[in-house]
Amino acid sequence: MIRPQPSSRSFNQVCIDSSALYENFTKMQQWVGRDIRIMAMVKADAYGHGMIQTAVQFSKAGCDCFGVAEIEEGVALRRAGIQGQVFILLGFQPSQEQLFFDYDLTPVIFTYQAMERLSQAAVRNGKEIVFHLKVDCGMGRLGITPSEVQAFLARLEDFPKLSLAGIMSHFPMADDAESTQTMAMYQHYKKICAQSSQQVPILCHIANSGAALYFPQTNCDMVRLGISLYGYYPDGAKGTQLARENKLVPAMSFTTQVVQVKIVPASTGISYGHTFVTEKETKIAVLPVGYADGFLRSLSNRAQVLIKGRRARIIGRICMNLCMADISEIPGVETGDPVVILGSQGAETITADEIAEWMGTISYEVLCLLGNNNNRNYN
Ligand SMILES: *Cc1c(COP(=O)(O)O)cnc(C)c1O
Repeated sequence: MIRPQPSSRSFNQVCIDSSALYENFTKMQQWVGRDIRIMAMVKADAYGHGMIQTAVQFSKAGCDCFGVAEIEEGVALRRAGIQGQVFILLGFQPSQEQLFFDYDLTPVIFTYQAMERLSQAAVRNGKEIVFHLKVDCGMGRLGITPSEVQAFLARLEDFPKLSLAGIMSHFPMADDAESTQTMAMYQHYKKICAQSSQQVPILCHIANSGAALYFPQTNCDMVRLGISLYGYYPDGAKGTQLARENKLVPAMSFTTQVVQVKIVPASTGISYGHTFVTEKETKIAVLPVGYADGFLRSLSNRAQVLIKGRRARIIGRICMNLCMADISEIPGVETGDPVVILGSQGAETITADEIAEWMGTISYEVLCLLGNNNNRNYN
């Protein structure tokens, strides 16, 4: 007889709403228009949502192009049966070239050295390989400078099995709908694309979620979307009309539960360092979640959580695996009650933007932290 295994579920559970992922992809495809291709950015385990499960949802919604940081992520997508084009954005290490051929991955190139190694691998495989060139038009990050482009393209003639299929760049501040830098940078980028595509037609892509939402004139042939597909606006939806009409749906929620309820008298110090001292008799819920779970220590004495559909403040330092919430005003809380850290309970909602504000960061980081440090479930 097979006995049921005892449940080994953690108190802390991330829940991913698969239909929200599907819906966000559909909405963004409608928003940018049918003839603009979307590269779904699923790096960092899909911003904490789980790369494979997320890619499956986007595929179902019609996605045929994915972007990841490193080659091992691309290999994992293929091994899971993901179809379409898979871009590797951060290059590769010596000896990894073969993987581009074995798994049909598309490299983004920004050094001569990579071009040479890829070319040698192409000759070995007796197979042509297409790549996209990364140009740094003002991000100050990865990519060759605009002044290097012509020399780079000239070198291509030395490598007959390498074929340039696209030129990409990246905006540093397209999440700010007011930024004047974005359009200036776009003009510069377009000039480079026009010069380069005189020889062969190439695919142009520069827009991220911010640009697709706030500077749609920069969409080019393809947009590379991350945060919007996960249901968030890159600027926290700070009041642009576009953002409100488009109504994306956050896909991630994060729940813990009460492990102890207790009442402490006035003048009780709470947690390490006693950074919080009770002013009056206080009812406390002890929660089994801490900075090791991505609920960062910088949220100490700042964050709020939802218990019985109401907001409760986190008091005292957040520990590695524990923190305390003040539930003096919330009657009837018992051990085992669910506690929402990210998401909705009753009429209340805590978004990743709100947590990000308490942490002094952006929603992206909150999603990565919570999503990549906890058990994930899908519905
Ligand atoms: C992550 C990433 C994106 C997506 O940015 P979002 O703001 O999440 O839409 C686009 N392009 C590149 C190069 C990226 O690394």
